[in-house]
Amino acid sequence: MNGIRVLIVDDSSVMRKIVERALRQAGLELTHVFEASSGVEGLELLRAERVDLIVSDINMPNMDGLTFLKQLRTEDLAAEVPVVMITTESSEDHVREALASGAQGYIRKPFTADQVKERVLPLVEAAV
Ligand SMILES: [Mg+2]
Repeated sequence: MNGIRVLIVDDSSVMRKIVERALRQAGLELTHVFEASSGVEGLELLRAERVDLIVSDINMPNMDGLTFLKQLRTEDLAAEVPVVMITTESSEDHVREALASGAQGYIRKPFTADQVKERVLPLVEAAV
């Protein structure tokens, strides 16, 4: 998959890099990697930039991922763009809420590049 513009939202800069690397290993050729450390920053970015994929953490200060997801759907930002949430092991409720709020998929931490490939690639392919 060529020429993908991705927005990675996570309060951990280390995790943002891990996600970026996993997306590249999954076969996505990323031409732009936008990073945000909170939902607030993510929304600001989406008001200014077009992206093809959004990957967002759930637990973040200064607007968590679920609020970010609901807000971007409410503002009709990135309407056609797949959103994949990153969850922790014990957050079944979060997964349900994310999918009900307009996320197309989720990845559970800790994840492997293969899991990212399985979960994320079909969404990007379907959207392009
Ligand atoms: Mg976090």
